This record gives sequence, structure tokens and C-alpha cells, in this order.
Amino acid sequence: MTTKSKKTKSAGRFGARYGKKVRDKLVSVEVKQRKRQTCPFCKRLGAKRLSKGIWNCPKCNKTFASHAYYLEE
Ligand SMILES: [Zn+2]
Repeated sequence: MTTKSKKTKSAGRFGARYGKKVRDKLVSVEVKQRKRQTCPFCKRLGAKRLSKGIWNCPKCNKTFASHAYYLEE
């Protein structure tokens, strides 16, 4: 079951488990990791996370390894 509410966002998949605080922390990371990040090569907003630590920028056509969840601003 993958229902998610407006309030819990992506942490809705855990239901009532693990507590509100840790679920909120997880949401703040997951929201960031799913957004496009600034590419360290062309400095444009394009890099997208493919997997843990693997990023791809379609603007300069590069796939590279970097931080696991989000790139440094
Ligand atoms: Zn780039």
C-alpha cells in the first residue's frame, strides 16, 4: 500500500511507525534528493540523482559519483 497524505509526504509509506520526528527528518532529505541539483561541472541546475551517490547531468551529459543524497551547494 503506497498511499501518502499531504501531511506525511513520502514518509506516508511507514504509516504510524518510527515516530513523527524521524519521519520528518527523512522527508527533508528525500525532498532534497529528488530535486535537480547544481552540477559541479557546468554549474547549472540539472544534476539528478540516479542511485546512491550516482548523479547524472543531462546538460553536459556527464554521469558522476558524488555525495549520496544531495550535492553540496
Ligand atoms: Zn552539468
